[in-house]
Amino acid sequence: MQRAVARIDLGAVRSNCARLKAELGEGPELCAVVKADGYGHGADRCAEAALAGGATRLAVATASEAEAIGRRLPHVPLLTMGALTPAELDTALAAGSEIAVWTRGFLELVAERARAQGRPARVHVKHDSGMGRLGSRAPEEVIGLLHACAASPDLEPAGVWTHLATADEPDSAFFAEQLDRFDRVAAMARAELPGVTVHAANSAAVFRDRRSHFDMARCGIAVYGLDPFQADPAECGLRPALSLRSYVADVKRFEPGDSAGYGQTWRAERSTCVGVLPLGYGDGVRRGLSNNAEVLVRGRRRPLVGTVSMDNVTIDLGPDTEVEPGDETVLIGSQGGEEIRAEELAARLGTINYEVTCGISARVPREEG
Ligand SMILES: *Cc1c(COP(=O)(O)O)cnc(C)c1O
Repeated sequence: MQRAVARIDLGAVRSNCARLKAELGEGPELCAVVKADGYGHGADRCAEAALAGGATRLAVATASEAEAIGRRLPHVPLLTMGALTPAELDTALAAGSEIAVWTRGFLELVAERARAQGRPARVHVKHDSGMGRLGSRAPEEVIGLLHACAASPDLEPAGVWTHLATADEPDSAFFAEQLDRFDRVAAMARAELPGVTVHAANSAAVFRDRRSHFDMARCGIAVYGLDPFQADPAECGLRPALSLRSYVADVKRFEPGDSAGYGQTWRAERSTCVGVLPLGYGDGVRRGLSNNAEVLVRGRRRPLVGTVSMDNVTIDLGPDTEVEPGDETVLIGSQGGEEIRAEELAARLGTINYEVTCGISARVPREEG
């Protein structure tokens, strides 16, 4: 019995990476993205499982994430994808991470700090082909920055890359337009700087279009067995790795009119039994799920009733329940033949599966199993 626990099936992470490798075929490398504590799954163990499944590189967003991964897996090529302050740059370089660059000024700073640390920095020059966030929009600038890396004793041109804005939207023509723009940059880079790793694809792009694969794919969501298209992960041959579990702390009888939780947002319409689960939005069970979710107990779906509070939620077990205090409950995952997927909760909340698992708070231990 555990108050709240996220169980992580590392075998699923391994098999999802093998699935992605199969989709990529011969050639392109798989870079497993383990930012945001592995999308809430635990970065360290998921990184190791991803490597066992065929990933050969790792990527994170921030310097402190790079520090943690670099300490644990010092020999695996690691890319920090995000913008870095000067202090964060020092941290990322000290962690042995490769660095994302898209301006002259930052490239000069990277060279200076790499020289100070006594080791050349490996640089991935970013092209903004249409995401409209980080990256240089001008192809000549991207190629110029790569040449500047090649000319500096303190820098190595490691990669040229971009990020796709609509890979998960099958109807979007912008996906092909972005690929066309990046294709020209990639062709120039390959002609002028052979050996540079060209990369663009996220999880959705890997399944959507081989043309996006280039030399490497940066996959996050699919590594964890969540569906990049917000549908059923099984359609892409993926297995969800995370389940979120709690237990029934108490079962009590409700008479018609009795209410559960803050604001009396739910009242019993008949005599029934209500189960109390000792987890809530303090654990990442979002308040938007109030009267708007189901929970598995003894292999059956039961409605979440009343308002989700910080530390408790209530479920309607019906008038003649066999459920007893101590029974395991499943908020995400399977039990018996039933399953509640992160995609279902995301749809109920008007968000995406990414936000559901990233939102599981630090109060919830991540355990293998
Ligand atoms: C998070 C991220 C990815 C991974 O995207 P998924 O959709 O989770 O596969 C790839 N590239 C960049 C730049 C990212 O920030």
